[in-house]
Amino acid sequence: MPGFEYIGEAEHRQVLEVMASGVLMRYGFDGPRKGQWKCRELEENLATRFGVRRAHVCSSGTSALSTALAVCGVGAGDEVVLPPFTFVADLETVLLAGAVPVFADIDETLCLDPRSVAAAMTPRTKAVLAVHMCGAMARIDAIMELCRTHQVTLIEDAAQAAGATFHGKALGTFGRVGCLSFDYVKTITCGEGGAVLTDDEETYRLAQAYTDHGHDHAGADRGADGHPHIGANFRLSELHAAVGVAQLARLDEILEVQRRHKAMLKDGLAGIRGLQFRELPDPAGDSATFLSVLLPSEHDARQAAKALAEAGVDGCFYWYDNNWHYHRKWDHIKTFTSPGRLAIDRFGYGSDLTKITLPQSDAVIGRTISMLIKLRWTEEHVRDRLARMKSVLA
Ligand SMILES: *Cc1c(COP(=O)(O)O)cnc(C)c1O
Repeated sequence: MPGFEYIGEAEHRQVLEVMASGVLMRYGFDGPRKGQWKCRELEENLATRFGVRRAHVCSSGTSALSTALAVCGVGAGDEVVLPPFTFVADLETVLLAGAVPVFADIDETLCLDPRSVAAAMTPRTKAVLAVHMCGAMARIDAIMELCRTHQVTLIEDAAQAAGATFHGKALGTFGRVGCLSFDYVKTITCGEGGAVLTDDEETYRLAQAYTDHGHDHAGADRGADGHPHIGANFRLSELHAAVGVAQLARLDEILEVQRRHKAMLKDGLAGIRGLQFRELPDPAGDSATFLSVLLPSEHDARQAAKALAEAGVDGCFYWYDNNWHYHRKWDHIKTFTSPGRLAIDRFGYGSDLTKITLPQSDAVIGRTISMLIKLRWTEEHVRDRLARMKSVLA
């Protein structure tokens, strides 16, 4: 997920344009900014590139998730179904909304198993948070259908899957709201940043207000704005948006390079006995930020992860032992440990997360190793890498 590898001349020029105007904030100052609106420009370009009616940028992928939950009406006591293989931000934002996280299992797509989502639904389910992990898609068609049948809101976390598609449609545009992240290690970056995508005008109206203390942004005078509801300050600065404008323009080039590098590795590893690739519901839509392989057993995967590191194959992740991305090491989340007491703890709704068991997900993640695909690799480097990987995995 390496947009940072491409920070260069275009990003530099964009930032200088903002500095030259002196207007670093996205709202107001209409006179001095002389027609320069970087956040708006990024939003328009995002909407066009992702094929969605509205994009609204915000300060991070995490604030995009908080915004998505809020504008979809997820609040105290509401259940949100989500996968145990994700980033802690999804759990944090659900808990901070006062809502109840309910885990559904993943399958060999490394994303939600629709059958497990169906089983996790209760009359209190308000939303399903589908996370498109490691650059590629969940079974989003089946999950969408399920949400429609149960009349539950679908929110997508496409933070790790910018530019990926399912049957030609961008991930992040299937649910009522889709969330993107532009943090420093994502496919495109602006240092810190995020966006919500939606086709629904009312959802957009709520989102743009929510990220700015509920300002309705109805008139030209910010001081005179109405505040129909409360919100937060999740605004993105013009400086960050400027970097985002430059990076978004390079998204297709980034995808092209990632796909080329990944195809070389994948072709080279195909046919190794016992080695399986992550299942992709639509291989053509993979953004190719990662190559993920499944080994026959947890023991094999642990051995392979160790051997790959020893062979100098960097950028490999054994998620099963990772405390940011997999539920096994989320003790602080499961015990609701927070500087201030969380609503879920105070009111005692929801089940005891310390007691959950997810054998189906464990069986998948326990066998999985993912490898980051980099942009600056030369063909020679990829060939060398492949040779090392083959000697370990064969
Ligand atoms: C990075 C990430 C986020 C959060 O994005 P930030 O911009 O870092 O706040 C959310 N979900 C997933 C799956 C992520 O990888």
